Amino acid sequence: MDGTVGATSPQEPMVGAASASVSIPQGTAVMGIGATESPTSAAVACRDSPLQVQPLTPLLGLGMAELEAWAQAQGQPAFRGRQLHDWLYNRGARSLEAVTVLPKAWRERLQELPVIQAGPKPASAADSSGDAALERSGASAALLPLASNQGEHGLELLGRSRLLHRSDARDGTTKLLLATADDLSIETVGIPSGDRLTVCVSSQVGCPMACRFCATGKGGLQRSLAVHEIVDQVLSIREAMGRRPTHVVFMGMGEPLLNSEAVLAAIDCLCRDLGMAQRQITVSTVGVPRTLPTLAERAMERLGRAQFTLAVSLHAPNQRLREELIPTAHAYPIDALLEDCRHYVAITGRRVSFEYILLGGLNDQPRHAEALASLLRGFQSHVNLIPYNPIEEEDFQRPSPAAVEAFRSALVHRHTAVSVRASRGLDQDAACGQLRRRLG
Ligand code: SAH
Repeated sequence: MDGTVGATSPQEPMVGAASASVSIPQGTAVMGIGATESPTSAAVACRDSPLQVQPLTPLLGLGMAELEAWAQAQGQPAFRGRQLHDWLYNRGARSLEAVTVLPKAWRERLQELPVIQAGPKPASAADSSGDAALERSGASAALLPLASNQGEHGLELLGRSRLLHRSDARDGTTKLLLATADDLSIETVGIPSGDRLTVCVSSQVGCPMACRFCATGKGGLQRSLAVHEIVDQVLSIREAMGRRPTHVVFMGMGEPLLNSEAVLAAIDCLCRDLGMAQRQITVSTVGVPRTLPTLAERAMERLGRAQFTLAVSLHAPNQRLREELIPTAHAYPIDALLEDCRHYVAITGRRVSFEYILLGGLNDQPRHAEALASLLRGFQSHVNLIPYNPIEEEDFQRPSPAAVEAFRSALVHRHTAVSVRASRGLDQDAACGQLRRRLG
C-alpha cells in the first residue's frame, strides 16, 4: 500500500470442509449433530474416540441464506441467522457475547466449540491463491499451516480482528494495525476525501513479490488472508472512523492475485451484505503469470459480472527497467502481461488502469513517458501516476513536483488518459507496510 488515494457465494467455507479436526475434552457440548449436510461448518461429532469435532469457521463473509442454513444446522430456527446477519453487518458486532439478541444458553454452548481460522488455500487449477501461482510468480515464501483458535472465542466465531494500534494523520487518514486470530498483524487504511471514504485493504499478511520500493515486500509473505479477515478490515475502518466506507481498494499488503478466490468472495460479501457497488472496488496487482484471464472468468462466474476496476502496477515502460524494480517481473514479460490485460478487457468489457510509481531520476524522465505512451497506444486504459513515498530501507528519490507535472503532460500530449494520485497520510507511516514494520 502506498498511503495514497486510489482512483477508484457463498463464502467458501474457508477452511473447506476443514480437514483439520480438533479433539475436545469429553463432556464438552457438541452442537449440530446430524446436520452435516449444511454447506457451512456445523460442528459435528465423529464416531472415533476421543470425541472429535469439526471446528466452526468464522461467520463474517457468509450471506443471509448461508447464515440461516448455519443457524438451522445448529438446531436453531432460520431467523436466528437473519439476526446474526443484522448484527454482523449492520450493527458491527465484534463478539458473540455482544449479540445479545441470541439466546444466552446457545451463545454459551457455541463458545465451547473450537473455531479454526483459514490459512492459505491449497492450489488448484481454478484457483490462483496457492503454491502453484506463487511459484509461477517467481516469488517464494513459507506458508503457515492452519492455526487453531485460542482465547477470545466470541470474537473469532464472528471473524473479527483485534485492534493493536491506531494512527491518525493530520489529513484525516486513519491507519489501523489489526491482529488476526493467530496473532499476525495486518494494516488497513481509511482515506476520507469529501463524501468518499476509501478503505485500502490488505489481501495477505506480508507479500512475496518483493518489489524494491515497497516496505511490505521487505518482510516476505506470512500467509494469505481469509474472506472474513478482508471484510473485517472494512468493518474496522467503519467503526474507527464512524462513517460508512464508499470505496475499497486492494492496495494494502499483499498480492491479491495470489489470493484471488478470497478476494472475489470478499467483493461478493461487500456488495451483497454491506451494500457496496462493484464499481467502487479496485483490485491492484503487480502481475502473476496466467492469473488475469482466470480472475476475469472466475469473477464472471462468481459475481455474475466483473465490474470492479483492475489496476495493474506497471511502473516501467520496458522489461529491463521493470525487472530492476520488480524482481518477479523476470517470470512475466511485459508483453505477456499486456496480452493478459487485453484478454481481461475482452472478457469483462472493463477498461484497465495502469499504476506507475514515479521514482526520481529513475523512471520519471520524458523518454520514459514517451515509451509508456507508445507501449499503451491503442489500449483502452488509464494511467495513474504515484509519486514514490519514501521508505526507510531504500534510497529511491521522490520525484520533484515539476517532474511529475512534466510526465503527466507528456502523456496527455500523447493522448494517454492520466491522473496523478495525491499522497495522503504521509506523516503517519501511511506508505506501504510502514506502520507494521515499525510496530508489528
Ligand atoms: N501487490 C499489489 C497491491 C499492493 S501495492 C500491487 O502491486 O499492485 C498497491 C500499490 O502501491 C502498487 O501500485 C504499489 O506498487 C504501490 N506502492 C508500493 N510501495 C510504494 C511506495 N513506497 N510509494 C508509492 N507507491 C507504492
